[in-house]
Amino acid sequence: MANPLYDRLFGAHSGKTTPFLHLPDGRVLTHQDFLERIAQIAHVLTQTGLTPGDRVAVQVEKSPEALALYGACVQAGLIFLPLNTAYTADELSYFIENSGASLVVCDSKSKTMLAPIASQLNASLETLNANGTGTLTDQADSKPAHFETVDRSGDDLAAFLYTSGTTGRSKGAMLTQNNLLSNSETLVQEWRFTARDVLLHALPIFHTHGLFVASNVTLLAGGAMIFLPKFDLDVVIETLPNATTMMGVPTFYTRLLGDERFTGDLTRHMRLFISGSAPLLAETHVQFESRTGHRILERYGMTETNMNTSNPYDGERRAGTVGFPLPGVELKITDPASGNTLPHGDVGQIEVRGANVFKGYWQMPEKTAAELREDGFFITGDLGKIDEDGYVHIVGRNKDLIISGGYNIYPKEIELLLDDQPGVLESAVIGVAHPDFGETVLGVIVPAPSETPDIDAIMLAVQTQLARFKHPRKLILIDELPRNTMGKVQKNILRDSYKDMFT
Ligand code: ATP
Ligand code: MG
Repeated sequence: MANPLYDRLFGAHSGKTTPFLHLPDGRVLTHQDFLERIAQIAHVLTQTGLTPGDRVAVQVEKSPEALALYGACVQAGLIFLPLNTAYTADELSYFIENSGASLVVCDSKSKTMLAPIASQLNASLETLNANGTGTLTDQADSKPAHFETVDRSGDDLAAFLYTSGTTGRSKGAMLTQNNLLSNSETLVQEWRFTARDVLLHALPIFHTHGLFVASNVTLLAGGAMIFLPKFDLDVVIETLPNATTMMGVPTFYTRLLGDERFTGDLTRHMRLFISGSAPLLAETHVQFESRTGHRILERYGMTETNMNTSNPYDGERRAGTVGFPLPGVELKITDPASGNTLPHGDVGQIEVRGANVFKGYWQMPEKTAAELREDGFFITGDLGKIDEDGYVHIVGRNKDLIISGGYNIYPKEIELLLDDQPGVLESAVIGVAHPDFGETVLGVIVPAPSETPDIDAIMLAVQTQLARFKHPRKLILIDELPRNTMGKVQKNILRDSYKDMFT
């Protein structure tokens, strides 16, 4: 028997004294050091009475021990359930109850708040702090450095990962060992990861991007990570010379471009920059290339599926697109009403099928049935099209589509135009209730630093370039767009703020 995910990502490195984690304080953890920590933590988990299939809810700061806790859950056959560090007591109580977690691991600072919630829900509680101390690691210190790996099959669940909650309440996506492993194998090949790679890791590890894309790919390839607690511009610039690759959300790249220390010289040795989780502006792509000579490789994925598409490693990385479906992933564009596949070039809902697609939303049978078809296709909730060369373009989310006077309006088309106007840093276009049209278009503009865009001139420019039904009824200026921790614009918050504007 075996445990495919553990064996391939972790066990394969047994005895290796190669560096795995480079930490900001100069410490280096080797693969073997990391495996020993995993084994010790796995002993603690099983000795608290957890058995295979139990859920471990984890809300902790990013640290090597937090990543080892993920490995320990895999080795002991437990379901790892990482939670955003920004969640409040009310939110955590929902996640702990919804998941039926048997153990909650949190920072000592949250213990007083979480202990009553955990005990009411019959979960035990351990602590793990940003610096690696806490009751979990205190117990682990005296445990053996070897743990007998628990048998699992590829179909067993490895993680519940809650979606980012950009469009509504977060949903717990049930991911199997094979969902995770198959996607990591594909990405290692597509992006040419090897044991020589050193990935600059500044993403959170409670989200699929930092946990499954970045960490699993590095683990499978046998490479190393510069493991930073968060994206700190100074530290990233300082450590970049030691990296070969970097993965980031678009805001990482715009922040780097905003700093003059970020030069071609600083990045010449780099092999690859990857972006995802939110749309990378075509302008960022162009600016990045002119500054560094590197073309950012943009890919597209989500909690429920890991990665679905990627721009090519060799071949043209096309700005404004998310590339081609990955090997083993089928992707089609369908009519939201009928579910039929649309002709090439038409905009419709993106559906995907493959070994990467999750098993359903935990305890949400109706939502699962509505989004996961019986034939295995998952309706992603994103709208897009495939161009004549096969590149996939994301047009926006289904929920952000504006329907005004019976016409479909895709916000992105208007946003791209607004972003191009003088003095505009970025924009968001939303649908707001209107007595005559059902919904109407509102444009929200963020000015570029120390600029005051001319709203009337922008309105005129937009009106001359777009069909009348797409004209924003109003344009307003705000200081910044509401974003969640993954850098995604929270249009539901904008819609809520302006919902009464035209009524
Ligand atoms: P929720 O499902 O709870 O509303 P969410 O969809 O933001 O939240 P995630 O699973 O973290 O939660 O994000 C996946 C979504 O992120 C995708 O469905 C897509 O809308 C967006 N996304 C990811 N990569 C890209 C990309 N390269 N370009 C555009 N959008 C992207
Ligand atoms: Mg989603």
